[in-house]
Amino acid sequence: MIATEKKSRVEKNAYEVALENFDLAANALGLEDNVRAMIKYPERVLSVGVPVRMDNGKVIRFDGYRVQHSTTRGPAKGGIRFHPKVTVDEVKALATWMTWKCAVVNIPFGGGKGGVTCNPKEMSMGEIERLTRRYASAILPLIGPDQDIPAPDVYTTPQIMAWIMDTYSMNKGYTVSAVVTGKPISLGGSLGRNEATGRGVFYTTVSSCEHLKLPLKGARVVVQGFGNAGSIAAQLFNEASAKVIAVSDTRGAIFSDKGLDIPAVMAFKDRTGTVAGFPDAMRIKPEELLALECEILVPAALENALTGENAHSVRARIVAEAANGPVTTEADRILEQKGVFLIPDILCNAGGVTVSYFEWVQDEQHLFWDAQDVYNRLERVMKTSFSEVLKIHLERKVSMRLAANMLGIGRVAEATKIRGLYP
Ligand code: NAD
Repeated sequence: MIATEKKSRVEKNAYEVALENFDLAANALGLEDNVRAMIKYPERVLSVGVPVRMDNGKVIRFDGYRVQHSTTRGPAKGGIRFHPKVTVDEVKALATWMTWKCAVVNIPFGGGKGGVTCNPKEMSMGEIERLTRRYASAILPLIGPDQDIPAPDVYTTPQIMAWIMDTYSMNKGYTVSAVVTGKPISLGGSLGRNEATGRGVFYTTVSSCEHLKLPLKGARVVVQGFGNAGSIAAQLFNEASAKVIAVSDTRGAIFSDKGLDIPAVMAFKDRTGTVAGFPDAMRIKPEELLALECEILVPAALENALTGENAHSVRARIVAEAANGPVTTEADRILEQKGVFLIPDILCNAGGVTVSYFEWVQDEQHLFWDAQDVYNRLERVMKTSFSEVLKIHLERKVSMRLAANMLGIGRVAEATKIRGLYP
């Protein structure tokens, strides 16, 4: 077998997928080569060593990254991930998607992302704080409210954002709230930011149900990854009388055909750290969860959840990509053939960055909004963006993923040309 064939079976890494999706959209848009050369690849990639004194006195060196994919439409914007599988390619992919995502929801930011290869689950609070502050110092030359604004991502929290904000502010000599978003409310965070990603997933799924004339009431929902994005989405589906029949995290998956009591599952997870072992449900295998018959499947964990290997077994009407990159290119094709309606990540989970933008605006203005104001503005942004993507999908007869990429990449290309960034 030749190497490329082998690779397509093994599945591409996230950055290869990001580049491939760019090419598809650029071809569909008929983008000139000059513009492609300007916008396809990251503007800056910083790699840093993060030495941390552990509680036992030993110093361990972690690898960290900050990537600015684009600053054409405004400061780079994107989360920071602390996870054992973080690689520079993963961070480059996530930064690239942030650029298109900010453009899809039409907020004045470019795309960035950061990460440290570590396992915070095996670290004490003190070790995580020292790692965060050292990493923040290392990327300090790149970040700032007008340059690059980090936020939480997988296994990073409002507390971690507070430490980054404090480290940056100590270096400046005064408080700079707007250097990160997703902060605690008492430090200039926005009401509604913590729930924003899940809420955006909910709004775009409601719009999809309206488009497909699928009643949300009683619709069966399956959520892979019961973290920030997944649990809030599950809660909102539950409140809207949909039936959340299964959820999972790294330690297990649970199922109930009557529908799970989501507030009780959330309380159980708060108490025990996992959904596994929740009393009023059946334990199922993680791979069974993705194959459950349902109306709405929400992959809300990590990349590559649905691949060429398992996409055939999906029995959902809608796949709502709460996670970034959960469906590989090969799985995309399979889902499309099966007639599954896909809400692509750069649209579906854009609620998080949208409310991050609201937080940054509030910090810069020193004027804070109430929660309902945040929800109303978020709903407007998500529903408008959904309609714009759907319009391209229907008019150009392209997949929802390609439609979203065409909208986002088209806006960045237009901004690039207007700025005269290429001769
Ligand atoms: P989180 O750390 O709060 O939750 C992640 C959850 O996924 C955890 O419960 C973890 O146990 C679970 N998980 C990990 N691997 C799993 C697996 N193989 N099977 C089942 N569960 C698994 O992280 P989050 O912030 O909710 O992020 C989840 C996804 O959403 C990521 O792809 C992230 O990039 C994306 N996202 C998050 C935000 C945000 O604002 N938090 C915004 C946009 C996109």
